[in-house]
Amino acid sequence: MSKNRKVSAFRCCLCPNPERPTTENLLDFKLLRCQSCKLISYCGPQHQKDHWPEHKDFCRAITSARKEWKLNHILDINGNVTELSAAQLREVKFMIQTLVIIKLNRDLTLGERELIWFPRICNVCNSHEGPLIPCPNCFAIGYCSEEHRVEDIVEHLRVCSELHLCYNFALESLPDDDVKHIPSSMVDANFPKDLFEMHRLSTAFLNKDRTDDFLGIRQPNTSSEYQKFANVCNLSNVATVLHGLNIVQDYKPLVSSILTIHIVGANTEIALFTRYECWLLFYWLPTIFYINLIFIGPELPVENGFTEISYASTRKKVVKVVYKKMKYEEFIPLASENQKTPDLIVCLNCGFAEHASESNNSWSEAIAVMLRFKDIPMMFTSYVKTEATSNMKVLREIADGGKNEFEIICDGDLNLFRDHRPFRNFIGYKTDVIYYYNGYLSVILTGK
Ligand SMILES: [Zn+2]
Ligand SMILES: [Zn+2]
Ligand SMILES: [Zn+2]
Ligand SMILES: [Zn+2]
Repeated sequence: MSKNRKVSAFRCCLCPNPERPTTENLLDFKLLRCQSCKLISYCGPQHQKDHWPEHKDFCRAITSARKEWKLNHILDINGNVTELSAAQLREVKFMIQTLVIIKLNRDLTLGERELIWFPRICNVCNSHEGPLIPCPNCFAIGYCSEEHRVEDIVEHLRVCSELHLCYNFALESLPDDDVKHIPSSMVDANFPKDLFEMHRLSTAFLNKDRTDDFLGIRQPNTSSEYQKFANVCNLSNVATVLHGLNIVQDYKPLVSSILTIHIVGANTEIALFTRYECWLLFYWLPTIFYINLIFIGPELPVENGFTEISYASTRKKVVKVVYKKMKYEEFIPLASENQKTPDLIVCLNCGFAEHASESNNSWSEAIAVMLRFKDIPMMFTSYVKTEATSNMKVLREIADGGKNEFEIICDGDLNLFRDHRPFRNFIGYKTDVIYYYNGYLSVILTGK
């Protein structure tokens, strides 16, 4: 059972989605609603039973809250949900989320969060009574009447295809390719313009028969296309690092054959720097033969240690992957000589600004340490544009405080190497309804 399973209130979360989102089994009135929490639906009793072990804690928390407040539906907790404004509905969702977190005494999974933030209600009037008409393309939202569907159609069409993508692949899809040998990269190849082109150019040698697989899958339809789409998306972290380095090279050419990268505030992204993803680094940086890839962060899901990944090539290529479960400001004084000075500092989906107002902002010390380096490129990615802007502002403020100048090379540009799997944004209203991992890229050069 997966912690990362996405759950749409308008679909059975256990059905293999790409092959079966026919109007037939996704029509709201044909779905079986959980009668306790009233928030989740299934194609039938078997999938309800199969999902119960994963669902039961959440379901019981909702149900007990509902009973304590004597409600027929949890969304009516602050009065009839159909009478709430968008802002009030948001407050209600936040209130329900807080209640459930307290009851469960743990954070919610992605799917549980989605059931609260994107509930089965009419997208126009919030009604949850009777069968709803789901959008026949995305099955991520629904309406109480044809009239409300038509009313919302223009607004919804702006995000419908992203929402469609949202629910049609499993997040945990792992690559089915492996790479043991790295060929010399093509001479004179221009750096690719986006993630898909990078993947296509880099995998062309793997198996000629499969090259075609990678051409037309920006709009996947079948399970296997979704799997391939996910494989490409899994390369986003490494591809974004390469893209950042490529931008930096015009300012500061890489001369060494050894590359040291600090990935700061690292968390679960370590799962996407494995043998399958890392070979891209060597493929696009042919003069490099040894990479120190150092993950530093108090939230690392592994203990301190290291592993080595090596590839055969004309010259053996090695990535030393080091895990340091600590804050960046603790790591630097302890770091060994060959790990101390990075060629590149990376913060993926960083959220510098997210906690900036809190007195114990976990990032401020780390950023101060980064900015003290002389002439080192530092890149960070953000989910949405507004976040990229506020993250840069945080850097600016810390730099001014410490009188550390830096040069902005790339200021929150749309990152074409982002992970193209969309997420629904809990926070956004009308703007930024969808966000992407590594959505926007910013690059600076420290200590000029
Ligand atoms: Zn099902
Ligand atoms: Zn339930
Ligand atoms: Zn309605
Ligand atoms: Zn739709």
